[in-house]
Formats: sequence, C-alpha cells, structure tokens
Amino acid sequence: MEFAEFAERARDIEGTSADTAIVDAVTELLLAADDDLEVLARFVQGRVFPAWDSTTLDIGPNYCYAAIARAAGQNVSADDVEARLAESGDIGAVAASYDFGGQTGLAEFGGGRESLTVSEVYDELEALADAEGSGSQDTKIDILFGLFNRTDEDEARYLARLVLSEMRIGVGEGSVRDAVAAAFDVPVEEVERALQVSNDYGRVARVAREEGVEGLESLDLDVGRPVQAMLAQAGTVTDALEEWETVGVEWKYDGARVQLHYDPEGLTMPGTDVTSSGDASPSDATTDDALSVRIFSRNMEDVTDALPEVVEYAEATLDEPVILDGEVVAMEDGEPLPFQEVLRRFRRKHDVARAREEVAVELRAFDCLHASGDDLLDAPLTERHDRLQAVLAGTVAGTDPDAPSSFSGVSALTVTDDPDEIAGVEENALDTGHEGIMLKNPESTYSPGRRGKNWLKRKPDVETLDLVVTGAEWGEGRRASFLGTFLLSARTDSGYETLGKVATGITDEELAHLTELLEPHIRSQDGQDVDIAPEVVFEVGYEEIQASPTYSSGYALRFPRFLGVRDDRTPDDADSLSRVERLADTQ
Ligand code: AMP
Repeated sequence: MEFAEFAERARDIEGTSADTAIVDAVTELLLAADDDLEVLARFVQGRVFPAWDSTTLDIGPNYCYAAIARAAGQNVSADDVEARLAESGDIGAVAASYDFGGQTGLAEFGGGRESLTVSEVYDELEALADAEGSGSQDTKIDILFGLFNRTDEDEARYLARLVLSEMRIGVGEGSVRDAVAAAFDVPVEEVERALQVSNDYGRVARVAREEGVEGLESLDLDVGRPVQAMLAQAGTVTDALEEWETVGVEWKYDGARVQLHYDPEGLTMPGTDVTSSGDASPSDATTDDALSVRIFSRNMEDVTDALPEVVEYAEATLDEPVILDGEVVAMEDGEPLPFQEVLRRFRRKHDVARAREEVAVELRAFDCLHASGDDLLDAPLTERHDRLQAVLAGTVAGTDPDAPSSFSGVSALTVTDDPDEIAGVEENALDTGHEGIMLKNPESTYSPGRRGKNWLKRKPDVETLDLVVTGAEWGEGRRASFLGTFLLSARTDSGYETLGKVATGITDEELAHLTELLEPHIRSQDGQDVDIAPEVVFEVGYEEIQASPTYSSGYALRFPRFLGVRDDRTPDDADSLSRVERLADTQ
C-alpha cells in the first residue's frame, strides 16, 4: 500500500467518532493490505514494532524537529518547528503545515517527491532503530529527513505522529482485534486468545488472513517472547471472601515485575522466521542461541544482563522450558529495600558485578505460564502454582516469619476462607518488611494484560480507630475459657454506640491477656454473650466503614482487625461517632 493511502485512511478514521465506524474503517484498511498487513495492523495503532519487542526508535523529539526543519527548507529551524508545536500542540499538524520535497539534489535520501510505500516507511524506521553508537543520531536525522522529504501533507502528519508515538486517531487494541475478526471472518474470542499468547497484532492479522481460525488456534506461547503481565485491582478481603469460595493469599512484594523465560536448549526469538517485509524482528536475539535465560520487565524490556544473580538461580534450579511470572526484590540482611533500588539495578548497564555487591536482588516467583510444552494460561491459579513449585524444585522463598527469606524461590500461596488466616499472612508480610498482601481467586485463569477482579491488591489500612470494648463472647472449644469476640463502640455525647465485632488478628497469648484485662469489668452475662463496662480501648484496623442497620451506631466496620490495647487511652479519649461518620463520608 502506498503510504499516502494509509495516511488518507488514517485521516478518515481520525474524523470518525463512533466505535463501530472506526472498527469498520480499520477492517477496510486490513482488507486493502497486501504483504504489508503486519505493518499496517501496527501502524494504525501508532506502533512501529510488535508489542513483545522492546525495540524503540530511540529518537528524541528534538531530532525529529531537526529532521522536519531540514525537510521544510533552508529558512526553517528546529526552533521554528518547536514554536509551531507550542501553538498547536500536535506534531502532526506542525509537520503537515510545511511544504516538503523541495530539497532536491539529495538523491541518496530520495530527493524529490517520489512516492513512499508503507513497507518502505517500515524498513526505513527499522534502519533508524538499528542505528547505534557514535554518529547514530545524525544517521537517524538523515533517515527521517529522507522520509519527510518525500511526504505530502497527510503523509507528513501521520509519519510525525508515528515517529513520536502520538498517533491518536482513536484506534485502540480492541478496535484492531475486532477489525481482524471482521476482516478475516474469524471469531473475536479466537483473535483475543491469539493476541494474548503472541502479543503481536501483526502476526495475528496475518495468520487470521492466511490460515483462518485453525491458524489462530495453533498459535501458542513461545518461550523467549514476553507476554503482557496480568494486573491487579485494589480490593478488600471482604470482597474476596464474598466473591470467591476460598481466597488465595500471597505476600505483595515491593519490587519490580519480571517475566522469566528459560530453555536449556537456548532461547531463540520466535515469530521471526518469516522474512517478508515487516515480519522480521529488528532484535538480534534470533541468533543468540547460547542464552538459556531471558528476563523481561513489565514493559517487555530485556533486563537479563542487569540481573545475573537471578539468571544464576534460574540456571541452577530449572531444567525444562518455562515462562515464570514474579517480582524481583532488593534485599539487605534479609530485609527488603525500597523498589527504587531494584529499578536502579534494572537500569545498570555497566559494572553490574559491583552493583550486585552493593544491592543484591532476589526473585519471588508467583506464577507459571508455561512448563514443558504446556501452556498454562487457562489452568486455575492453584494448578499453575503447583507447577511453579515443581519446576522450581521447591525453593520456597521465606514466607515463614521465623526464617526470613534470603534467597530466590517460589512465593507461598495460602488458600483459605478464614479471615484470621488472611490477617496472619498479612501480619507476616508486614513484619518481614513487605508491602502487604495480594488476594487472588484460586480458580482464576491467567489473563495477560488484564486488570481484572481476579487479582486484588490489599494495601494496609491507612486509618485506624480507637474503640471502646462494650461486650464480648466467650470462645469455643480450645478457647472456651477465653473471651473471643469483642464488641466495639464509638463514644457519643450520651454514651456508646456499637459498630462492629473484632475477632481477627488476636493470638492465643493475647486472648488470655485480654480476658484477664476485661473479666473484672463484666456487668452481666447471657449464655456466651457478656456485657462489659466501658473501660478498655482497642486500636482497630478496618477496610471500610459501611452504613448498616446491624449495629446501634448505624455503621459497621468491614474486616475489622485487632491491632492492640490502647493502655494510654481512657474511654473518654476513644474515637467519637462523629469521627466515624466523617471517615465514612470521606473514604
Ligand atoms: P500495583 O503496582 O500497586 O498496581 O500492584 C500490582 C503489582 O504488584 C504487580 O504488577 C506486581 O509487580 C506486584 N506484586 C508484588 N507481589 C505480587 C504477587 N504476589 N502477585 C502479583 N503481583 C505482585
């Protein structure tokens, strides 16, 4: 396809607002594509390279302005370009406002206005990305100048936007997915699945066109090519317990997300076996057969070289092809350091050995996407975690507070429906210096790139309340001689109003102590229930304050947890109901 035709279609799409009309227009574009289908499926999203490929054009905006200025003629400087940009805010409009192509006599850069094809633009941008080392910025400017010099108004508009990753014509990933399904008459779910495993819109479009639904079905994860990470939403323990039969609880590490690919035979970069224009990867990984481990950051950057100790761990522990998901944490004397330390290690290009001595990093693996030829995206979390433990030969990173973790390994997964147990895991995580806990649906599949409801991150409570104990219940069984559940009240002008019961977060030892403390204040007893005079103040954490008819205050605490006795406070200093009301209003 001529680049001019792409630009014209892009302009039409930009002028369209209805989602369905956009999908129709992208469908037409894909149908009009020739052997440049892969490139077009990316260009229309403003992407030059596949999503799994971290290659960038690596050209600063100033160099782009310089190339535009040069193509615009002798009287135009990069400053003029910037001044126009400051006015319009759109580099596309700025590029379109110049009359290019006047710079003749530059045959090697395609002087004159010889028309451009989409494949040619891609090839030139690939060469631009490949330029490295001293003088590379000049090479990049030369290449861009050569391209701009051959553009008309609309071509210049979309070339400039493409180069600076500012396409903004309203085409998202969903529009391309739907357009591939419509153009090549394949089910949208199959396209979605193929996109998840391949992370490559161009390849999926080509396979859909050439091999139909069978071709899409045959696309699998490839060890060596990163997929999008599954993401988490903020959520509460109460939500998790209400939504799922049981809850998978893990420590939440304050580090950096990584995806580790391992193949003892050496990793090649799959999907690069096709040689027609646009299919080949600009990455040089295809030839690097010696590498058995590659580690990618959350945005698919290859960070293998920066993390030798994780590579060594993987090489020593793994013996079959796998894709693992996890978090890299920086550790010092068994304590985690802030995540900035990990990022510093990620960025380190030189003197990695020294950096490693200063700050050691460790892997906490929490998921397994592929093992020994099996794609596990559709397997439930518990099964994936079992596979993880099997492939990592039981190297469990310490989630036992008595044995603080100091090595890479599997992050423990506790599956429970008991809020006390969840609170216990959280306490251990916080005691060991980690961020908190993740709550995961044990039955859930792995959805790359999704911020769904199956993974919830629970951050520690921001607020706590000091509440007066006005009642309790005797425990049962082993705990029959202890008070077990405590009724909590907030102070009002005329007395106390109840707003919840706390039974979570209390050890046996603490129960004995609390019973001793409260027993003298028991006023009356009815079966297991006791009425207690307001004397003792508890500090309590909670997830949320809800309006509720269950308690006399009209509010109820969600997931209340005992944090300690406020020996330093009398009931008169406890929190008032009006503070509870204020907190409920502002949460
Ligand atoms: P946030 O960055 O606050 O959105 O939280 C989600 C991030 O927490 C993930 O992308 C991971 O990098 C990180 N994380 C730490 N521990 C875990 C875990 N056990 N499971 C999943 N993600 C985790």
